[in-house]
Amino acid sequence: MTADDSRRSAWRDRTRLVHSGRVPEEQFGFVNTPVYRGSTVLFKTMAEQTSYDGRFIYGTKGTPTTEALAKAWTDIAGAAGTVLLPSGLAAVTIALMSCLKAGDHLLVTDNAYRPTRKLCDGLLKGFGVETEYYDPMIGGGISALLRQNTAAVLVEAPGSQSLEVQDVPAIAEAAHKVGALVVMDNTWATPFFFPPHERGVDLAIEAGTKYLGGHSDILLGLVSANERAWPKLAAAFEATAPCPGPEDCFLALRGLRTMLLRLKEAERQALDMAHWLAARPEVKTVLHPALPSCPGHEIWKRDFKGSSGLFSVILNPVPKHAVAAMLDGLRLFGMGYSWGGFESLVISFDPSAYRSATRWNPGGPALRFQIGLEDTEDLKADLDEGFARLRAASR
Ligand SMILES: *Cc1c(COP(=O)(O)O)cnc(C)c1O
Repeated sequence: MTADDSRRSAWRDRTRLVHSGRVPEEQFGFVNTPVYRGSTVLFKTMAEQTSYDGRFIYGTKGTPTTEALAKAWTDIAGAAGTVLLPSGLAAVTIALMSCLKAGDHLLVTDNAYRPTRKLCDGLLKGFGVETEYYDPMIGGGISALLRQNTAAVLVEAPGSQSLEVQDVPAIAEAAHKVGALVVMDNTWATPFFFPPHERGVDLAIEAGTKYLGGHSDILLGLVSANERAWPKLAAAFEATAPCPGPEDCFLALRGLRTMLLRLKEAERQALDMAHWLAARPEVKTVLHPALPSCPGHEIWKRDFKGSSGLFSVILNPVPKHAVAAMLDGLRLFGMGYSWGGFESLVISFDPSAYRSATRWNPGGPALRFQIGLEDTEDLKADLDEGFARLRAASR
């Protein structure tokens, strides 16, 4: 370790964000690492070609652009290493495949991202992995479900629709006792608000599509691993080479520099909107981890350093067409999947048909909000008109 490296490890988040993964001397002094497009890397000698230990060997094994992003994320996540994938779902896939084999048992939280469930119930099942779903609020009670062949436990805290905050340290302690790895979908909090590897997570997934990209214009996934899980993750990546495009990696690096600022603004904006919604007569409950009405709020207070711009509300019972009247006429809120961009979104959701370990019965229609960077007074006015349409249609 050089003197510079030792100072580096003491940097705080904001400094890390500005300086990680950047070596201007290697780029003729330019501040940013550009888009390197490349498959073939030329060697000077046969010895170099056959030794296979150069910094760059072939495009699938890394380019200056992908190396810059992976190094920066490893720094930020406090990990041993990071692999980059072309989508968040590809990140979930490689994380799980790196630690599972035929005959293994996998525990998955019942509030997991739906495509993750489909992966488990389809492809992984076909490969001989048995998935069992568990109550997201199970905490240390997960011990009762752990088996000799349980190879991994997947947590998602909070769930990206229903927002239950899981007790990750308690689950990790129980899982590690039987030798199982803990895989976390950490997209909501990001390493800034939940440092995964400090809290017992072995493999941490981030859909870079969300806050890292930040502008709803790229698809990207990242998996960081601690010392224990890194060899498995690196081997799974090497075996399959699911490489993201260099342009998207460049855009993610560009997004990274302002990620924490955007995240903190999303936090402030979303809290403003969540408190406003909590006071509306049309709203039954607000599911925002920073509000006491959210399952796991106390755990959030204990383990998390902040909240992002995504939360949900349960409306008081109204017919479906009244909810449609509200949403269909919104002018500022877009209706669309994904989140973490600069623009506000809303979707209705209902996981009751596919939950299997718990029942989803919140007592009214559910809406998920992603709060962007608009002025919240304008967002409130848009929803205020929406609620008027909802009331008129439910009469
Ligand atoms: C969006 C999302 C993903 C998948 O990311 P994509 O890039 O859209 O594939 C995974 N997990 C969570 C919690 C997400 O919100």
